[in-house]
Amino acid sequence: MYINSIRGVRDLLPEDVKKLRYIERICREIVEKYGFKEIILPTIENSVLYQHSVGETSDIVTKQMFEIVNKDEKDKKNIVLRPEGTAGIVRAFVEHNLKDKYPLKRFYYFGSMFRYERPQKGRFREFYQFGIEIFNEFSISSDLLLINIINEIFQNLKIEIILEINTIGCLECRKDFVNILKEKIKDFNIQLCNLCDERLKKNPLRIFDCKTDFPKLKEKLDDFNIQNYLCEKCKFNFQQILFGLSEQKINYIINPMLVRGLDYYNGFVFEYKTKLLDAAQNTLCAGGRYDSLITKFLSKDIPACGAALGIDRIMEVLEILEKEESFKVGISVVNETFLIKAFEILKMLSLKNKNIIFLGPFSKKSLKSQMRLLNNENCKYVLVVGEEVKDNNIVLKNFMNNTQQVVNLNKIEEYLKI
Ligand SMILES: [Zn+2]
Ligand SMILES: [Zn+2]
Repeated sequence: MYINSIRGVRDLLPEDVKKLRYIERICREIVEKYGFKEIILPTIENSVLYQHSVGETSDIVTKQMFEIVNKDEKDKKNIVLRPEGTAGIVRAFVEHNLKDKYPLKRFYYFGSMFRYERPQKGRFREFYQFGIEIFNEFSISSDLLLINIINEIFQNLKIEIILEINTIGCLECRKDFVNILKEKIKDFNIQLCNLCDERLKKNPLRIFDCKTDFPKLKEKLDDFNIQNYLCEKCKFNFQQILFGLSEQKINYIINPMLVRGLDYYNGFVFEYKTKLLDAAQNTLCAGGRYDSLITKFLSKDIPACGAALGIDRIMEVLEILEKEESFKVGISVVNETFLIKAFEILKMLSLKNKNIIFLGPFSKKSLKSQMRLLNNENCKYVLVVGEEVKDNNIVLKNFMNNTQQVVNLNKIEEYLKI
């Protein structure tokens, strides 16, 4: 029977894993330097968590969540595979009362997320995200910190990025420009898709996410700029951020159409893009402020901001990693009667030499084919265990200069040098 993987998901083969772990390690090292602590979230959550956070009219909640159906009908609980990480972190923050536990409330997560989307290049139904969240720190310092950290990550990964920023105002001023937007879109008299018809009533900004309707509206909305409708506080805040970025010589573009696809954002929002991927999936990182999200779960005002890096896309634009040559040593046996002795030697050497990769011994292979395999695996040396082992000796073959000599087992480590 031949069984393929499910559409839209993929296996990460060793070369992919190497890239993924490399990116993960860089992200981890940098954020921990800034005092972030890791939370490992469960892969499954109640769907209501996302309805209350990501939003009822968002793409994620309306059509992208994988629901888990329990075969036991009595236990219908609307459990879904997590489509993103922020909502889970907020749930954990509230559930475990983390606000009293840590003076600095900076958290990060890494793992796979699941969304039912049309699979295409750079877009998978299971994808990896590395996310950082800052709770209980106000705008400007925490906004600038996020940008600095993400810039540092991309610098370390040697990936050129374009930072696009915008502000979507606070709950107060957003009401005004959302109404203006609503009227404008109605006036265009364009036939919208069913979902956007709904969005026009509930959350017109969400129409910016629609791949069929937004292109039709984009040009007509040219004169619509959220900046013109901001309240004094939001205007001042955004100016401060722009000033902070310019003073630090951080390049950015203001994109007035950048609104982010999730309901919980407010104020400063941003996306990091690459020129190396098609426009439909060129966002490598996205984030912003979500000052009212925690309030929905905890009747307490806790400002927050965060960002998530799309690891799969970063893997696509990451330059090929330099091959780090690992130091490999092979162990072969003249015949199977020496197998147990070879394992003894392997255990003794492996315990003491953490940096060496040991390959072998192998059953049912001629000495010649053992040698061929170990040579193909780029072993520097091969220990040949044969008759000499009775005198505590082995034959040491050096693949670098094609020589061999009899060596006493007690002195073997003196020889295992490059
Ligand atoms: Zn405002
Ligand atoms: Zn639409």
